[in-house]
Amino acid sequence: IVAKQTSRNMVAYNPAIKMATEENISLLGQLKHALKMGQLALHYQPKVEIDTGKIYGAEALIRWEHPSRGMIPPVKFIPRAEQSTLIDVITEFVLEEAIRQLSVWQKSGIDVSISVNISTRNLLQPGFTDLVVRLLNQYDLSGELLELEITEGSLMVDVEHTIDELKRLTRLNIVISIDDFGTGYSSLQYLHQLPISVLKIDQSFVRRLPEDQGAVYIMEAAVVLAHNLGLKAIAEGVENKQIYQFLATLGCDMAQGYLIAKPLPPEKFVEWYGQYAGIYHHSDSIS
Ligand code: C2E
Ligand code: MG
Ligand code: MG
Ligand code: MG
Repeated sequence: IVAKQTSRNMVAYNPAIKMATEENISLLGQLKHALKMGQLALHYQPKVEIDTGKIYGAEALIRWEHPSRGMIPPVKFIPRAEQSTLIDVITEFVLEEAIRQLSVWQKSGIDVSISVNISTRNLLQPGFTDLVVRLLNQYDLSGELLELEITEGSLMVDVEHTIDELKRLTRLNIVISIDDFGTGYSSLQYLHQLPISVLKIDQSFVRRLPEDQGAVYIMEAAVVLAHNLGLKAIAEGVENKQIYQFLATLGCDMAQGYLIAKPLPPEKFVEWYGQYAGIYHHSDSIS
């Protein structure tokens, strides 16, 4: 009791901590409100096959369209939401919205799969797979059009449970990818045990290609590792043609980045999809 009181007093008398906590509570409160008011939206960024230039899929990225503060990027609110149960509600919203969009696009002949970013907390939440199944059924879609992106670090939390849950998801043909590969506490030791199909190599390496020799070595090794494990390698953050071409020489399978397109609101994505004519053959108009 004494210890508790002391720590409580410390919080009360430390203005910095008190302020940070209040800020956090108000941010979470505003976020809850934003969700209710329909201020959260998904933007979509295409991924293409490097060899053929064909569209492989689109990543759903959350945006907070704040009525007075403008567009707030996910780094400003997702990490804080992840420290509370609010992330469960947000992920449910993101999954439902992405699956609804998938269904609309499939019906109108826009044949792209959609990937959704999943937080550690979601995967460890009982009923997560059931939620995904329920949403796919609700929109009458099969799992192969859905991909879940999971960061490397989050796989380390409870390996056995995570593998079980991922196996249940892959039995539905849902594609699992490792996001930000190369930045986590490496899970190389059991990477081969995970039922994953794609390694997304972090943009911190990609951006430094081809000048930075260290980045080149890491990129090369990551692509070889992916292929030896029977996985596809995708490079994130591909901003120019030079990087794209360098990735082609490394045998990297896919690319995502501003060179191809920025994350776009759904109607802009449809426009982009209609105009896209491949990246190799029309390279002059891109760059
Ligand atoms: P991520 O999943 O690694 O997503 C890639 C980020 O890189 C996105 O930032 C994207 O806009 C950005 N990006 C893509 N291509 C380029 C490029 O060529 N250059 C540069 N400089 N950046 C590029 P964004 O949308 O701000 O998202 C940041 C992170 O927030 C995501 O990283 C992901 O970890 C998280 N996030 C986004 N949406 C969600 C969501 O719905 N749920 C959860 N749990 N996390 C999300
Ligand atoms: Mg991602
Ligand atoms: Mg990433
Ligand atoms: Mg990231």
